Amino acid sequence: MARYTGPVCRLCRREGTKLFLKGIRCYTPKCIMEKKAVAPGQRSRRRTKISEYALQLREKQKAKRMAGVLERQFRRYFHMAEKKKGLTGENLLLELELRFDNVVFRLGFSSSKREARQLIRHRHFSINGKIVDIPSYGVKVQDKITLREKSKENIQIKSALEESKKRGLPSWLEFDEKKLEGTVLNLPNREEMSIPVQEQLIVELYSK
Ligand code: SF4
Repeated sequence: MARYTGPVCRLCRREGTKLFLKGIRCYTPKCIMEKKAVAPGQRSRRRTKISEYALQLREKQKAKRMAGVLERQFRRYFHMAEKKKGLTGENLLLELELRFDNVVFRLGFSSSKREARQLIRHRHFSINGKIVDIPSYGVKVQDKITLREKSKENIQIKSALEESKKRGLPSWLEFDEKKLEGTVLNLPNREEMSIPVQEQLIVELYSK
């Protein structure tokens, strides 16, 4: 599957905000956004009036990059969100929030969503007893995400679990430290979703 392979910190500079794409480093003073929050390229130094379209575009790019999906897939999520009842913007963020890679990250098994995608592809987890190696898989309420027995001593996962204690667990998830198993208790509400964007701007952009 196609994926972005360029420098990820550049994406944060472009969006002018931390997108938390690099794991533990993002929470340290080593993060470039702590020192040089300037967008890449010379033009970024010019002061220009930001158009409505540019605002909408930036909001969409931010959401897409934080979720780690490319344009075509993002648009697919948008169309799915449009077809559902309720607010399209919230439905879109919910689709992104329930992606398997995001849930693995929020349970603390990885230090970033990117790392979560790698672990999932390497078949470290099962959902309801069945191995799932698709990062975009959409989890459902009452699904149980379990670290496989053979992966319990994985150093990368152990250190991520330790680090994640600082982040805390969202209330819509439950984590059993003994079994190393997470459960989706309910659907997250808007305040509990992890992508801080103005979703209405994305809806306006795609509705043109
Ligand atoms: Fe973004 Fe993390 Fe790089 Fe900081 S360290 S610029 S938050 S990806």
